[in-house]
Amino acid sequence: MLNRPHIEVVEVSPRDGLQSEAEVLPTEQKAALIARAIDAGVRRIEVTSFVHPKRVPQMADAEALMKLLPQREDVSYIGLVLNQRGYDRAVAAGVDEITMPVVVTDTYNQRNQGVPTQQSVDDWFAIAEQAKRDGIRAGVTLSAAFGCPFEGEVAPTRVQDIARRVVAVEPDELALADSIGVAAPAEVSRLIEAVRDVASGTPLRCHFHNTRNTGLANAFAAVEAGVRALDASIGGIGGCPFAPAATGNIPTDDLVYLLHRSGFDTGLDLDQIIRISGWLADVLHHDVPAMLPKAGNFPGEVASGPH
Ligand code: ZN
Repeated sequence: MLNRPHIEVVEVSPRDGLQSEAEVLPTEQKAALIARAIDAGVRRIEVTSFVHPKRVPQMADAEALMKLLPQREDVSYIGLVLNQRGYDRAVAAGVDEITMPVVVTDTYNQRNQGVPTQQSVDDWFAIAEQAKRDGIRAGVTLSAAFGCPFEGEVAPTRVQDIARRVVAVEPDELALADSIGVAAPAEVSRLIEAVRDVASGTPLRCHFHNTRNTGLANAFAAVEAGVRALDASIGGIGGCPFAPAATGNIPTDDLVYLLHRSGFDTGLDLDQIIRISGWLADVLHHDVPAMLPKAGNFPGEVASGPH
């Protein structure tokens, strides 16, 4: 099939996935996960976060991990940063790209990054300007854009207001994150439209969690609204240590199946992704939420059982 529209799947299992796992994976195994994801076709990966090791002990090895990653011109390693200190560490460690969350509600921003939302907006301005000088791609993520675990419903006008402010420094990308998995597809379509009204020049990415089993439907709503980049984690591992009851990201496995069967191209090898899920289940010592590793690809290779 020629000219299938491309959807970029940004792999976030090494950061958003692993940071909520009880098991802290050794640095070598994190590097192995990233190398396997690259072999499966992943070209943008959120590899770690540069935050205080006391707050997120799972990411304390950020610098050591960066040293173990394959040097690839065709792969972009993304580091998550919350402030200038994190930015400086990320650049020194050699990331290709940074992403900075700005939580749209003050209570959650305070819990996640220790300051009110406006302070993070100000920090983002300084970081975005610095990134331009350093030649580092810089994206900003509006977290809890569809609802907050502490403040409840989030008005789309509030998201619009913050989007308008953060795009003033022309980020390479603006992401909308349903950090706690409360969104439904109709809201996704509406919020994307609302944000486009104030940020029309900025490419959009979406980040969904499957907490209430609406994650894949939300991802497809975003695709239908024209979004061409989606975050996902292999096996659907993940959550947020600062958001009660948040569960995993949408599974890369299931998302890739949905997109390929719907006529989109992702550049990913689904059978390889499924095998990585099986490996992750082994090293994490628990089953993973993704359905494809259980059901198998269709048609074609079956993940387990006789061929
Ligand atoms: Zn997340």
